[in-house]
Amino acid sequence: MTKYIYAFDEGQKDMKDLLGGKGANLSEMKRLGLPVPDGFTITTEACIEYLKQGETLPEAVMTQLKEQLAAFSKRTNKAFSDDQNLLLVSVRSGAKISMPGMMDTILNLGLNDENVEKLAHKTNDARFSYDCYRRLLQMFGEVVYNIPMHAFHTYFDGYKKEHGYETDADIPAEGLKAICEKYKEVYLEEVYKPFPQAPLDQLSEAIEAVFKSWDNDRARVYRDLNDIPHDIGTAVNVQEMVFGNSGDQSGTGVAFTRNPVTGEAKLFGEYLLNAQGEDVVAGIRTPKDIQTLKDQMPHVHQEFVEVSEQLEAHYKDMQDIEFTIENEKLYILQTRNGKRTAKAAMKIAVDLVEEGVISKEDAMTKVDVKSIDTLLHSTFEAHALAHAEVVSQAGLPASPGAAVGHIVFTAEEAKVRAEQGEKVVLMRPETSPEDIEGMIASEAIVTTHGGMTSHAAVVARGMGKCCVTGCSDLEINTTDKIITYPGGTLHEGDKVSVDGANGDIYAGEVETTSAEHSEEFEQFMQWAESIARLNVRMNAETTVDIEAGYQFNAKGIGLVRTEHMFFGAERLVEMRRFILSSDEATRIQALNQIREYQTEDFEQIFRLSGDRPTIVRLLDPPLHEFLPKAGEEVTHVAQQLGISEAKLNKRIAELHETNPMLGHRGCRLAITYPELYVMQAEAIMKSVVRLKEEGIHCQPEIMIPLVSTVEEFTTLKTQIVQCIDNIEQQSGHKLNYLIGTMIETPRACMVAGALAKECDFFSFGTNDLTQLTYGFSRDDAGKFINDYIANGILEVDPFQTLDVHGVGAMIQTAVDQAKRAKPAIKIGVCGELGGDPKSIHHFNGMNIDYVSCSPFRVPGAILATAQSVVESGR
Ligand code: PEP
Ligand code: MG
Repeated sequence: MTKYIYAFDEGQKDMKDLLGGKGANLSEMKRLGLPVPDGFTITTEACIEYLKQGETLPEAVMTQLKEQLAAFSKRTNKAFSDDQNLLLVSVRSGAKISMPGMMDTILNLGLNDENVEKLAHKTNDARFSYDCYRRLLQMFGEVVYNIPMHAFHTYFDGYKKEHGYETDADIPAEGLKAICEKYKEVYLEEVYKPFPQAPLDQLSEAIEAVFKSWDNDRARVYRDLNDIPHDIGTAVNVQEMVFGNSGDQSGTGVAFTRNPVTGEAKLFGEYLLNAQGEDVVAGIRTPKDIQTLKDQMPHVHQEFVEVSEQLEAHYKDMQDIEFTIENEKLYILQTRNGKRTAKAAMKIAVDLVEEGVISKEDAMTKVDVKSIDTLLHSTFEAHALAHAEVVSQAGLPASPGAAVGHIVFTAEEAKVRAEQGEKVVLMRPETSPEDIEGMIASEAIVTTHGGMTSHAAVVARGMGKCCVTGCSDLEINTTDKIITYPGGTLHEGDKVSVDGANGDIYAGEVETTSAEHSEEFEQFMQWAESIARLNVRMNAETTVDIEAGYQFNAKGIGLVRTEHMFFGAERLVEMRRFILSSDEATRIQALNQIREYQTEDFEQIFRLSGDRPTIVRLLDPPLHEFLPKAGEEVTHVAQQLGISEAKLNKRIAELHETNPMLGHRGCRLAITYPELYVMQAEAIMKSVVRLKEEGIHCQPEIMIPLVSTVEEFTTLKTQIVQCIDNIEQQSGHKLNYLIGTMIETPRACMVAGALAKECDFFSFGTNDLTQLTYGFSRDDAGKFINDYIANGILEVDPFQTLDVHGVGAMIQTAVDQAKRAKPAIKIGVCGELGGDPKSIHHFNGMNIDYVSCSPFRVPGAILATAQSVVESGR
């Protein structure tokens, strides 16, 4: 028969799946001989079984519960019905991963109208006894019967006021007894049933309530947020009560073995004398610093210090310990790895390695990749956030950071105001490449449409700029310059605060704390790099971004998106001239001009990269993205180019495409206009020649996007090689370069072997590859992906985390084919998945060489690949 219940001395710390974190650690502490009140754990399997069947606890669980209680009574020499040695227990939930949002604790279980008198008699303290009973009535009512908290509190506070008692401690035994009577009436009023008097009924109902709380909404939301599976269930711990509220020689507290905010290696905690657990948490009385316990109870303090040192050394991590003192005797109620800030995590990990407690590899697992973001970007002050007015919580955390600024609705306005020294937040339905300068000028970018790979998201991440996309609860009217949100309206110039780390937006200015670099960070990242298997490059094209990426130790550039170089005001004019002119001479002249600009740009980029490899992707977006949309803009552009508005409009209409992302873009443009890529290749190699003459030996890697057939690639490669041959001849320099392709279409994956024979490298563009594999438009998927996730059709957004079975399988096929055809081929990933820790974990297991992501994601990516190596052993 399945064993559903384990006494504490039957378990150990590795049994977290079955006993939950709390239960496994209680068992472990018992094994270590620490002063842990006796008890037992009902397993997660019992929970899963119960949730499957519903209604009542499975019979086998009830039978074993009775057996365990009998054995427990024997060990403790106490029983629920014993006059002298009364057994009272606490009931606590304990999932494998600790989870706020679930039912937590019921204390003093076993008390009833009869036992409360026995306890009073035995302790000779009726006040204490009735205080325990009223706490049980309240906790049990709230968590087992869902009686609203205020039903008890209102009466309790009213009673105190009516009788002129200042604090809870002033209420005498008689008063508490009256309160207990009233509390029992509350049960009848609120749930039409009495408080169960039989201890076994109390216990079984409490266990059921813990099991049920596994499925409540808050717990589900928490699990979704933290990627905890929904089917692992929770355990329940039943433990003999010890009383921190039995006088001034008793107390209760919580302590961390190191400071959880700063990481300082010093015991950090608080306690309250004459109190039970929830008093510390409830904040009614102000707890004291653990250091003062030294003066109040020196030997208890000393024993606690020793226990905390023993526990930290045993678990090899900072511990969060709950304790109770009953008549000067110390009891440990719980230990677990303590939650900590990112800064503390980094310091603790480094200190533990330096103290010789853990290895560098172990250190990698002690820092959450997600938390790295908070070390690189400013964040909002928690106390300030608590009072801030929420504008939106529907958005996606597209790029982290905490930014405050005045609302603007257009990129032009952003630029104008920023030039006058104003901090602005650009808020738009969506952004497009022509907004680039306004985006650069803004502190943050907010859009109502688009997902994690929309233009705004990708560009902002690249710049390390705070960005929230897909705020579907906002309506942005750019014509009337007004934003309607569920709680009101905002206008141009109003201040907003944007939290890119979680997607929230607040009205007004919320106080921020800026990011700070620490020695521990540098040391930790150095270890991470020494362990990592995959190289991490950056996706970047501006000087600021490239410098940031190299500061974070990127190993090169994995993607320069050259289209961003066409949007500066003068460049755009020439690009438009090229696209719109029917006269060949004008077009060539325009391209010559663009080549000059690009040569300068590339020179800057390659100078920063030095001898580190740099992939430049040739022009990718459809041409209409460079054209004016309508109205005044068309008139202005027509004047600038000296053509009629009618002609311009005609050309815009000709370039219109029904599905531009599936249309005339990427390498397809260069099939029609070969001179485009040739111009870019020339600009790249001319800048390389200039630098070579200064003694800088660059490693340019020219990348052709959106290839589906080998012939597309070879046609364009021949033209490019021809052009580079000419440059070599003219310059007299032999130039080092690679030519490769982006793998962004399913067909390219299927012919990867043949393509590899022609390519020096591959880089998976997982944004387009995901778009084309699913047939989900990357710009529109934000509108429905959440419905897929809510309905359990998709677990995660495949644009954010690799779809292992579809897109992942496609990539695996392509990698296998390519490495078979050309073992030396270099393979990387440069789509957004290249910076996602979970996806990196999968890429780490494939035969690829590097991932590439926006500069501020580089440290997280390095840590993710190091963690993968530690976890998978390769
Ligand atoms: C991709 O498709 O994954 C990619 C990196 O290119 P872009 O996002 O510029 O289309
Ligand atoms: Mg692409």
